[in-house]
Amino acid sequence: MPDRTESDSRRLLRRLRDTLAEPGAGQERLDRVVRLIAHSMGTEVCSVYLFRDDETLELCATEGLKRESVHKTRMKLGEGLVGRVAKTSTPINTANAPAEKGFRYMPETGEELYSSFLGVPVQRLGEKVGVLVVQSKDARQFSEDEIYALEVVAMVVAEMSELGAFIGEGDALAAPHKQAVMFRGGTGQEGAAEGRVWLHEPRVVITNPVADDPARELERLNKAVTDLRLSVDAMLTTTEVMDKEQQQILEAYRMFANSRGWMRRMEEDIARGLSAEAAVEKEQSAARARLETVPDPYLRERLHDLDDLSNRLLRILTGQGRDTGAAMPDDPILVARNIGPAELLDYGRRLRGVVLEEGSVASHAAVVARALAIPLVIHAELITTEALNGDQILVDGDQGIVHLRPEETVARHFREKIAMQAEAQKSYASLRELPATDRSGQTIALLMNAGLIADLPSFVRSGAEGVGLFRTELQFLIRSHVPKRAELAALYLRVMEAAHGKRVVFRTLDIGSDKVLPYMKRIEEPNPAMGWRAIRVGLDKPGILRMQLQALLRAAAGRPLSVMFPFVAEFDEFREARQSLLDEAEGERHLGRKPPTAIEVGAMLETPSLAFAPDAFFEMADFISVGGNDLKQFFFAADRENERVRKRYDMLNTSYVTFLEKIVARCERAKTPLSFCGEDAGRPIEALCLAAIGFRTLSMRPASIGPVKHLIRRVDLAGLRAVLDGARASGATNLRPAVMEWLARQDV
Ligand code: PEP
Ligand code: MG
Repeated sequence: MPDRTESDSRRLLRRLRDTLAEPGAGQERLDRVVRLIAHSMGTEVCSVYLFRDDETLELCATEGLKRESVHKTRMKLGEGLVGRVAKTSTPINTANAPAEKGFRYMPETGEELYSSFLGVPVQRLGEKVGVLVVQSKDARQFSEDEIYALEVVAMVVAEMSELGAFIGEGDALAAPHKQAVMFRGGTGQEGAAEGRVWLHEPRVVITNPVADDPARELERLNKAVTDLRLSVDAMLTTTEVMDKEQQQILEAYRMFANSRGWMRRMEEDIARGLSAEAAVEKEQSAARARLETVPDPYLRERLHDLDDLSNRLLRILTGQGRDTGAAMPDDPILVARNIGPAELLDYGRRLRGVVLEEGSVASHAAVVARALAIPLVIHAELITTEALNGDQILVDGDQGIVHLRPEETVARHFREKIAMQAEAQKSYASLRELPATDRSGQTIALLMNAGLIADLPSFVRSGAEGVGLFRTELQFLIRSHVPKRAELAALYLRVMEAAHGKRVVFRTLDIGSDKVLPYMKRIEEPNPAMGWRAIRVGLDKPGILRMQLQALLRAAAGRPLSVMFPFVAEFDEFREARQSLLDEAEGERHLGRKPPTAIEVGAMLETPSLAFAPDAFFEMADFISVGGNDLKQFFFAADRENERVRKRYDMLNTSYVTFLEKIVARCERAKTPLSFCGEDAGRPIEALCLAAIGFRTLSMRPASIGPVKHLIRRVDLAGLRAVLDGARASGATNLRPAVMEWLARQDV
């Protein structure tokens, strides 16, 4: 790179910084900035276009185009050359703009006079902010150096804190990070909460984008990169037992940390006048913009690596750790790109709510949030870029909506909703000691689902009559190594003790496929939910299952033990799994250990096939529990994780209810106790219908017990049964309308 351009661009950046430091209102400063750039680049025109909303760009300042068009000229993303730069996040450089494909002429700007065009994206950490353009009359092709110089300038412009103030009309302008923003995501866990943002990984703040002494900045960068490489090397040597694939992933990560290309680009940025941290951020922004356009999942993962490395580097350079010194607010709502289950557990019940950019309904974080009964919204895109520590935030887990820095009217409305929920909770508490008996005297047993020690306090609070489903895989998922048998036995004992002699049904490990343990070898499967999971893994690789069964037997010494096997698809699987439990019990007896007083062995009915198993299966099973989450997805062939299809199928679909009734009938004939433990058991209307068609035991999240009990106590289940039968007989394809109509006539 020739010296002349380097020092030119440094001079420009320095003048830019000085201009930005001068007092003045936003528009005036931006006008000065474009004048300065046009002058330095030797072009007649320099303009800044900024995003007004996700789809629209607005001309916010110009040197050279007609001044009247400022804040008037707008274009859609992708429209014209400016719109195309914004859309693709790549520069356009042409000596003959009108001849370019997609050129759109804006008469009000007077740009017909200008032939050459160079536009570069203005972006900040991958967030598109706008487009910076220079134009000139002569048919000039800008050099690589000039493009680069303009990109560096765009980086500094992006850091201008008041940019947002230029977008919008007149004085009613709001800067970014000040406006109210709503995010529409998905529901991870229901519930509503108000609080203050607590960023899991607070954004690094760069206060010095321009630097005077490139040699010093280079030295800082080199030192920081050396520290980074050492820490990555340390990760590779200290991370315990890795399989080949994990090793490869970490090696790729290390390769990036050592990448010459990455280093070279940052060195060039510094030579142009950026500070070391601004150089890192500029390359990070470019990588994030590329991330959006890369469809290949492997490459996307690698770009994520680069993003992660950039964050680490920024923290080393600025000394800003995760701990920014800010105190966690009293009412924290955690905001993060993603979070692991163990980290979430560390925060525990201190959190009022959680909002994630990624995540999924079945992610481990969601499982933990559910266990802690913390409202969770997932897929809130770009919230980590928008939210600042301490911002006011409202989380509506029921609808998957988040309001950041809400208007007062929205907040007031929201508070009413929270107050109503609290009021309802109070009235449910008064029902705690009462049975869920309907008007005709039919009693339904309401049990709770659990999976963590953190769930146990809910046992007493909720008034649950037992634990109908203890998901044992959670204890495996939150660890980095296989738990030891003694460790598990101690844990299961604590669970039984917390239940005060009430029944606890332990479900053996439901892992494999998507629920991969960190220490388990990952197996790529085209369709993991229908793959090698749960009892299939337990039977093929019996080591862990046997260890778990031994732990359960030891914990239950001198008490009754209930075990159920997940995802049983056919009788033989159940027979084999049951036999291994009996064999282990026999083995323990031989060792002279005190046995359980009784052993119950049940099966989860989660695949339609099991509903058609031979009578002998129903006779052999001590109890059956319908896992409605899985059963429903396989009945309708609709992935429970896929937002597009998940909500399309209703539990009250007539065919599905009829199918459930068949299961009830088979269990009644064989006198096999039957329960339902999927999410639908905790939804009051669905729970009523399940009770009406013959499910006498329902197991649900602890928070659902109150609302379900409240409703059951106010209705006559036999009456509801008649309504269901009547609607079906009249040809209804869905029973919900009839149920709602009937409910409206009840005193509930
Ligand atoms: C179910 O499938 O309904 C169930 C209770 O199991 P899980 O949600 O853990 O798959
Ligand atoms: Mg299941």
